[in-house]
Order: sequence, then C-alpha cells, then structure tokens
Amino acid sequence: MVQTRGQSDGGVETCGECGARYKVTIHRAPTRAKDEAHCHKCGHLLRAWNDTHWPSFVLIKDEPVAPTQDG
Ligand SMILES: [Zn+2]
Repeated sequence: MVQTRGQSDGGVETCGECGARYKVTIHRAPTRAKDEAHCHKCGHLLRAWNDTHWPSFVLIKDEPVAPTQDG
C-alpha cells in the first residue's frame, strides 16, 4: 500500500447543478488558505473553504463501460 503524507481521501463530491462527480482529495497546507472550487462543467460552486485543509477536485469520467468483445 502506498502511504501518502499530507493528504487524505475526501470521498466524492457531486455537483448540485449538473451532477458531475468529482473525486476529492484533502490536502494539508502549512498556512490557512481561503479559496473555493467550482464545477468544471457548469461553474457551480462545489465548495468554499477557509482552513488549513483544502480539497482538490478531479472530474470522474462517468462514461458507460462498453462490453468487451472477445469472440
Ligand atoms: Zn456542474
């Protein structure tokens, strides 16, 4: 298992506007940071924070999995 220092899994955030899903990673910053993150697709505010912990959002591609044809 890979141990990553200074960051932890923040679960999944779903955009309340367009339903885009983001993988959230929580980072620890040395100083307090005030910022906010918006949906990459529609610009809806995902989360705002003013803390020494800040999240990063990576869009989860929710494409249907095509069945493999192995015949
Ligand atoms: Zn959105």
